[in-house]
This record gives sequence, C-alpha cells and structure tokens, in this order.
Amino acid sequence: TAPLAELDPEVAQAMAGELARQRDTLEMIASENFVPRAVLQAQGSVLTNKYAEGYPGRRYYGGCEHVDVIEDLARTRAKELFGADFANVQPHSGAQANAAVLMALMSPGEKLLGLDLAHGGHLTHGMKLNFSGKLYEVESYGVSKEDHRIDMDEVRKVAVAAQPKVIVAGWSAYPRHQDFAAFRSIADEVGAYLWVDMAHFAGLVAAGLHPSPVPYADVVSSTVHKTLGGPRSGLILAKQEWAKKINSAVFPGQQGGPLMHAIAAKAVSLKIAGTDEFKDRQQRTLTGAKILAERLTASDVSGKGVSVLTGGTDVHLVLVDLRNSQLDGQQGEDLLHEVGITVNRNAVPFDPRPPMVTSGLRIGTAALASRGFGDEQFTEVADIIGTALAGSSDVESLRDRVTKLAADFPLYEGLEDWRLI
Ligand code: PLP
Repeated sequence: TAPLAELDPEVAQAMAGELARQRDTLEMIASENFVPRAVLQAQGSVLTNKYAEGYPGRRYYGGCEHVDVIEDLARTRAKELFGADFANVQPHSGAQANAAVLMALMSPGEKLLGLDLAHGGHLTHGMKLNFSGKLYEVESYGVSKEDHRIDMDEVRKVAVAAQPKVIVAGWSAYPRHQDFAAFRSIADEVGAYLWVDMAHFAGLVAAGLHPSPVPYADVVSSTVHKTLGGPRSGLILAKQEWAKKINSAVFPGQQGGPLMHAIAAKAVSLKIAGTDEFKDRQQRTLTGAKILAERLTASDVSGKGVSVLTGGTDVHLVLVDLRNSQLDGQQGEDLLHEVGITVNRNAVPFDPRPPMVTSGLRIGTAALASRGFGDEQFTEVADIIGTALAGSSDVESLRDRVTKLAADFPLYEGLEDWRLI
C-alpha cells in the first residue's frame, strides 16, 4: 500500500526527472506525443491485473465482463474513426501489429516489397536483422535521386519484376503523401495484397487532413502513440474478409494476454480523436511542420538556410538534409539537445555518412501541437533551430528562448497530485 515514492524512491526519482525533462525541453521527435491525463489514468489502472486471452464474448478466462465492454468500445471507435470494416486493438506495439499482419497475409519464404529502410521505411518492412527480413524474402523500392520522392512508375517496375505476395506502403521518415490508389493498382496488376502501415500519419488521417489508405488497402496497421496521440501500442484495420486471419495471427499467433489497461487507454484516445479539438491539434501539427520547412530553408533566419528533403512537407515532420553541411546528424542532434530541443538523427537517402552518424535530422511537430503551440510558437522554434544549425555559437541565448517557450506552455500541471508518480 505504500506510495511509489516511498516504496521505490529510485524509480520514482527517475520518473520525476523524466517529467521535468518533458516539461522543460521542446519535444520534436516525430514519433512522440503527449497523451492527455485521461489516457495516463486508463493506463495506470487496475486493468493491468486482468488476463483476457481471446476476444470479447470468447475469452479463455473468467471475469472478463468489464474488459469486454472496454475492448468492444475500442474496436467500434477504431472502425468508426477510420471507416474500416474490422479492427483488432490488441497489438502491444506497432512492431507486433506488423508481425501479425505479415503472419496473416503471407507464409515464410514468400516475397514482401517495401520501402527501403535507408529511404524512410521501417524495420518491420523487411530489414535484414528484423523478423520480417529473416522470415520473408524481401525486395525494396526507394525514392528518386533527383527529388527524393517515391516514383510510382519505378515502384511498378520493381513490383512487376519481383512479383511479391505483399506490397507495403507507409514509412517512418518520408515527408510527403503516398499515392495509395496507385499502390492498389500496382498490387492488383501483380496479384499482390496491399498493406499500409500508417503508424506515423494515423492522426492526420483520423482528422481528415491526410488521404486515407483504408479504402485501398487489404490491411492497415498503425501505432496509436505517434500523431494519433494515444498510449504506446498498435492496432490493425482490415477489410472484413481478413477478420478471422488477423484475429488469429494476433492471438494466439503473436501474443498471449492483451494489455487491457493499454486497450482502455486506446479506447479513450480513439474517442478524443473524433473531436473538433483533436482536428484543430492535427491542423496545428501540419501548419507547424510547414512553417518549420519554410523557415529552415529561408536564408533570412541565419543568412544561410538549411536544406530539407523534397523542399517541404505534407505531414507532421521535416527531414533536414545535412549532406552538404559541415555538421553531421549526430552533431546536429547533440547541438539541438544543448539548446533544449529533442530530435533524432536520421539517415537520408543516399547518405554518405555511416548509420550511427547520418546526414539527417527528423523533426516533428505533433508533441508541441499537443502542448498548444500555434503559428507564432512554431515560427520561433523554427528560427531557433535554423540559427543553431547554421552554426550560431550563442547556445545560451537559444536555450533561454526555448525555456521561455516551454514555460509559456506548461505541461501536465498538477500531475504530481493525480498520484500517477
Ligand atoms: N511502423 C512504423 C511505420 C513505425 O515508424 C514504427 C515506429 O517507429 C513502427 C511501425 C513500430 O512501432 P513500435 O515502436 O510501437 O513497435
């Protein structure tokens, strides 16, 4: 019965340190967000105690009457939000969702075609050390050398030559919309299934601010914790004909008992994602990324300007291209860390530097939009980043500007009183 701080002061202290870090710095890792209080409460609840293998109404454990209500709410909300026939909300994470999708759509040894990891794809789309690269034969398509965009004629050529069983669209680091209708037509032409992994842009899709893959894909997977702004976890949507295979691939195929506290938190965040407030937040996320791309490339900020891949963005992130800069990705990440802005270094396509160093930075706006940032603040953030990356030595004054922005938009006020830490 002892509170955490008494029972385990070491863990409590590190948690308090993390809360302070989130409050005092500007979070711009493109795959992160801040969940609302209600999501934290659902996740930190007694639901963590409950085993519920199986699905609502067909469990392998007793006492599931309340968690059944919760999982049904999450499934119904996911289907309604995205206009899907079917939803499975049990995947513990995006990678687990993707493992189940591949298990349902293809057999080991068959061929998967996805976006090259070095051009913005995800590990689970066929990277050689990942299960996807070990279990399946993998071919990849990339972006064009000229404009760094995916060229659908090129995808078609690769698909016709490779004859894959599954084509995956979706990405971890690509700043533009993909053409889902063209992917569908290529998949039909070569007799492949189309899987879209919308992990990064699901929140934008939910808000109607990004084309939806749902009408085109056989199966769509997602994380819930990126732009969608929910708990760290995954979900799968599909056409009805895939329902049985997907359910069986998630449980018992890939997982045991579902995390009912995470599923409750998913249900809450899917409810929030249907609101006007959520749409406004996604709009500020998009506008913020556009401002960032425009201000970084403009030379009036620093006298130089910083290049961004494809010259702009349609989504919640910008990819800074440091191939022609003295600064490498690691140095850029470290420098922004000193200023109080958290980003991650990221390989750019055709990167001459090694993967642990890279020539890119991936910078996202979702978390700051959740914090309340609008045009004015994103302009200020962009100017701070542009000045830092152009080689300003006045790190201290840039850090002061960050501290002021953070203080103007307080985060998780009173969280200590919610008894969550
Ligand atoms: N799919 C894509 C496109 C991603 O970018 C990510 C995470 O970065 C994942 C899947 C995996 O999600 P998780 O980290 O929850 O396993």
